[in-house]
Amino acid sequence: MVDIIIVGAGTAGLTAAIYALRSGKSALIFEGKAVGGQIVNTPDVENYPGIPHMSGFEFASHLLEQAQGFGAELKYEAVKEIRDQGAVKVVLTDAGEYEAKAVILATGAKNRPLGLDREQELVGRGVSYCATCDGMFYRKKDVAVAGGGNTALEDAQFLANYCNKVYLIHRRDAFRGEEKNVELLKAKENVEFVLNSNVTKILGEKKVEGVEVKDKFSGETRVLEVSGFFIAIGQMPANEAFAGVVSLDEKGYISAGESCTTGTAGIFTAGDCRTKEVRQLTTAASDGAVAALAACKYIDAM
Ligand code: NAP
Repeated sequence: MVDIIIVGAGTAGLTAAIYALRSGKSALIFEGKAVGGQIVNTPDVENYPGIPHMSGFEFASHLLEQAQGFGAELKYEAVKEIRDQGAVKVVLTDAGEYEAKAVILATGAKNRPLGLDREQELVGRGVSYCATCDGMFYRKKDVAVAGGGNTALEDAQFLANYCNKVYLIHRRDAFRGEEKNVELLKAKENVEFVLNSNVTKILGEKKVEGVEVKDKFSGETRVLEVSGFFIAIGQMPANEAFAGVVSLDEKGYISAGESCTTGTAGIFTAGDCRTKEVRQLTTAASDGAVAALAACKYIDAM
């Protein structure tokens, strides 16, 4: 039996592993997708204290190396269920069954879809949720980005470096993302803001050929001829599998405060998957430390 099973190898999960291992506990991390979590999609991280500039991919790679350097074991298996048997937590994955004294849920969040007709069908054929992953396919082409948060603003900046033209479509005229990012975009000649507008259709049969946008005040529609459509409208949690062992809030996030305790003894949570105000790299790392130390304390008191 391992001391702590960590579900999710993003910033919160990997930080939790570092703190658990440095406290003398064994740690096994499960990751069902790719290591690193959402930060791997950020081209330039410049608000993590002590690191003026680094790509999200590089940041995640360093973090993994650091955790493995302390002895973290990583398995690429998706966790399907957790059974709480008091002193023993049974973790069922798509490949096996494992036991731990404590569990830390650090499942992050997944990309929120716009919910348009054929959106999912056209993923990989013009629709993308990751500009840093797919942006290069649209070199010298026209693309559109939907969203008004930092992700959309940074995606638009990244794409403007390679693409012929970038439309940034946002449903309001004020951005949720930082003003500095908005100013950087305004200075780019190949970026056009399409504000107070919603995307109503994705056009094209076999691949994206354009998007239809509707002005929410005038009701007028306009077609933007683009071959890439990047959707960056935030994230949503993916905690359904754990609803039996921890309580979820009305949006599906794991109910927990700054202590990262869930209300179920021996099950802790960290990062974007829990109820919180600020979802940042810094707060994910902070949660990882808090959850791991709480789990260690729980095990020591067993
Ligand atoms: P976000 O901040 O939640 O912003 C989501 C944006 O999408 C909002 O502008 C929202 O519009 C819009 N939106 C949501 N649902 C929509 C819908 N159905 N149709 C049209 N638009 C919709 O998400 P995010 O940009 O992914 O950022 C998530 C967190 O990560 C934030 O805390 C952000 O600051 C952080 N982040 C930080 C960095 C960095 O520091 N380098 C980089 C990326 C992200 P409204 O504004 O009208 O609600």
